[in-house]
Amino acid sequence: MAIYKRSESDKQLSKNFKLSELMCKCGQCEEQIVHDDLVSYLQELRDLYGHPIKITSAYRCPNHNENVGGVLNSSHVKGWAADLQCDSLPILEEIIDQMFSEKSLGVYDVFIHTDIRAESKRWNNRTIVKKEYLPKLMSVQEINDAYKKIEDGE
Ligand SMILES: [Zn+2]
Ligand SMILES: [Zn+2]
Repeated sequence: MAIYKRSESDKQLSKNFKLSELMCKCGQCEEQIVHDDLVSYLQELRDLYGHPIKITSAYRCPNHNENVGGVLNSSHVKGWAADLQCDSLPILEEIIDQMFSEKSLGVYDVFIHTDIRAESKRWNNRTIVKKEYLPKLMSVQEINDAYKKIEDGE
């Protein structure tokens, strides 16, 4: 586990991911907890997927976690989790499902949650069927709007 300062946001944590992408979205908290194993796992996913992956939420400080309706011991607070968006969620989901059975996977309409907890877990909070997916990247505004309607408690 690594603890970074918010001021180190430009730090490159792996080939494709910077600290800023994994920092808490509250914009206030100083210490940013990011597990090294999460970073290397995300980079492996990025390499296999071969296209940009947008991290919509990774580390959450306890305050921010409470504000977004997260459970008390959320894997996001521990620096183990990331919510991901990309131009084809079904493909990314397939990669995790087939190749990373030891990782947790939670599917939602507009993002997927994944984490590195020891006892992996799978869940489906999706309300639409797979074929209805629109393969497109969402804008930050669209993602924020979607988040208001979704509680990712994990
Ligand atoms: Zn925060
Ligand atoms: Zn999540």
